[in-house]
Amino acid sequence: MSENVRVRFAPSPTGSLHLGNVRTALYNWLYARHNKGAFILRVEDTDKERSSDAHCEELMDILTWLGLKWDEGPRVGGPHASYKQSERTAIYEEHLSRLKGKKLVYPCYCTEEELELERKRQLGRGHMPKYSGKCKKLTEDETKKLDAEGKPSVLRFIVPPGEIVVNDEVRGEVHFPDDQLGDFVLTRSDKSPTYNFTVVVDDALMKVTHVIRGEDHLSNTPKQILLYNALGYKPPKWAHLSIIKGPDGQKLSKRHGETSVEAYKTKGYLPEAFLNYLALLGWAPKSGEILPLDQMAAEFDLAHVGKSGAIFDPVKLHWMGQQYVAKMALDDLTRVLLPYLADAQYIDRDQARSKFDWLKGVVDTVRTNLGCLSDIVKETFFFFSDELHFEPAQSEEMKGQKALVEAYLKAFSDIKDFNGENFLKAVKEVGKQMNVKGKGLYHPLRLAMTGREDGPELVKIGPLLGKDEVVKRLAIWTTEQAEKA
Ligand code: GLU
Repeated sequence: MSENVRVRFAPSPTGSLHLGNVRTALYNWLYARHNKGAFILRVEDTDKERSSDAHCEELMDILTWLGLKWDEGPRVGGPHASYKQSERTAIYEEHLSRLKGKKLVYPCYCTEEELELERKRQLGRGHMPKYSGKCKKLTEDETKKLDAEGKPSVLRFIVPPGEIVVNDEVRGEVHFPDDQLGDFVLTRSDKSPTYNFTVVVDDALMKVTHVIRGEDHLSNTPKQILLYNALGYKPPKWAHLSIIKGPDGQKLSKRHGETSVEAYKTKGYLPEAFLNYLALLGWAPKSGEILPLDQMAAEFDLAHVGKSGAIFDPVKLHWMGQQYVAKMALDDLTRVLLPYLADAQYIDRDQARSKFDWLKGVVDTVRTNLGCLSDIVKETFFFFSDELHFEPAQSEEMKGQKALVEAYLKAFSDIKDFNGENFLKAVKEVGKQMNVKGKGLYHPLRLAMTGREDGPELVKIGPLLGKDEVVKRLAIWTTEQAEKA
């Protein structure tokens, strides 16, 4: 690698980070790590109305939680500080003066209404809408007069003629034919600089070598290339990532489920599992799908990033989550699950300590089902409560099972040491005695003990619940049936 790779993630702190943002951050991070380069975090907060410090802190917390450490940026500093655009005003002003000096900008006084009308007319004639360049014709005297009258204005960049070609590392050559681009805005009427301007100034000064970002910015790239040329800077390499789609092929949105990363954090997805899944949305690693972060970094390249939009599949995310939960040591897993059990009021603080070994046993029975940590709540409900709820179909099924459950009740009551072996022996004896086998033998017992259609093996659940509890549940159940009869 001849140059030192420098990439950046440049979020606008206007809301919570969504899946697409984090995939962009991840690909940049992987690219930096793979090439032993730098990963920069730059906060694009020039839109004062929509940006907030709270969102900025939140997004940094999310990146930290995910383990995507940045080498330069807010909180850590770096040679190009500040890494917040709101603190770089003087730099933008200086660059603007350069463009003014070269007579590459002009003030535009058109109102929103005028521009809207112009757009509609162009569309009506079947043309692609673009700014007509009307204000470029104003003389210096005219602009002075309008300024003196206090007419608000923006500054526009004069787009030179010619086709623009973007050489994209993912999409190949993308051509933007001559005459498609109108003179575009560099500063708003409150004098604040726009995204296309600040992004070029910052990427150039921060020596960014590769801009890896969402495909929604591809149409901004020709504007940015023109600004690089106008300012005398060398443009970076470009890589535009396809948008993430929902299972119906439409752009991923709230309709498809949770899109904010915060929501997945709250559900208790393990960061590595979450990143592993996101990495696969557009990148096909050679050595299989399950790759811890360092292995991903070792393998990552833009050549294997696909052009077509990847589909977000919550079921696959859950599967990925399961693979990572299953790898955790039981002690550690139980420990990180304690807050979820406490929140669900299954246990209190003292029990977390005094019943830790028992909790480990409970966790062990369901660990392979956990896609995220909060799954523990629904998976283990019956261990902590005997208020089992039966669906009508289940009640119907159980109606004919009173004799069987009573036989279990008797057999279990007689067990001295209520361990798995004796539990199983009793179940088999009941089977012989009642002449039932397989599902007919186990399913009613499962329903009576857990209220669930499926779950961990009964031979594991029995000893964890303990003899008294199992017997109590079967007794409750038979009494209820007697009352219903
Ligand atoms: N602030 C822009 C965004 O969040 C950054 C785009 C870019 O990476 O250039 O979409």
